[in-house]
Amino acid sequence: MDMSWETLINTDWHDYRGVAKDEDRLLNLLKPGWKTLLREWWNIEGLDQPTPEAIEALQMLRTLLQRITRDIISERQIAEQDLEELNSYLEHSPSRLLLTQNENEFTLQRIPCTFDWSWLQAQIAASFATLLAEYDLTRVKQCANPDCRWTYYDESNSKRRRWCDEDCANIMRVRRFRERHHYP
Ligand SMILES: [Zn+2]
Repeated sequence: MDMSWETLINTDWHDYRGVAKDEDRLLNLLKPGWKTLLREWWNIEGLDQPTPEAIEALQMLRTLLQRITRDIISERQIAEQDLEELNSYLEHSPSRLLLTQNENEFTLQRIPCTFDWSWLQAQIAASFATLLAEYDLTRVKQCANPDCRWTYYDESNSKRRRWCDEDCANIMRVRRFRERHHYP
């Protein structure tokens, strides 16, 4: 599964220990080191550094995906308006086929018509649309640690994963233990 959507949602970062301040990690794309992040997050190279407007546009897309994700998790119907908004991102993803030749071999690839930040937005929107249309939405979850709220797709066999990772699982075990035993 293309997890571009999950990466974007989780750039709205919260400290799982509840200590550090919340952080909008998208803003790190405006700082040195942004190329490495872009590669890590979406496996993309060759874009120009984003403008503040491009970041703002990604933030808006993120808000939309967060809203729809909340609806999915609470088993609510997705608003018609949100569906329209998601479709408007998909409109900006025109691609075409390109045939290339290397010695005696041909390769046929689908390549984007324009390669820029709106193309990336469209790719992320498409990954989310694919999730909605083709995957098990009861596996879309948010980490049960209220300080963390990391969004993920639960791929476990039992479908009973409740935490984003072991750190959150441990911190919540300790908290429950303390509550049961009335520690401060
Ligand atoms: Zn977590």
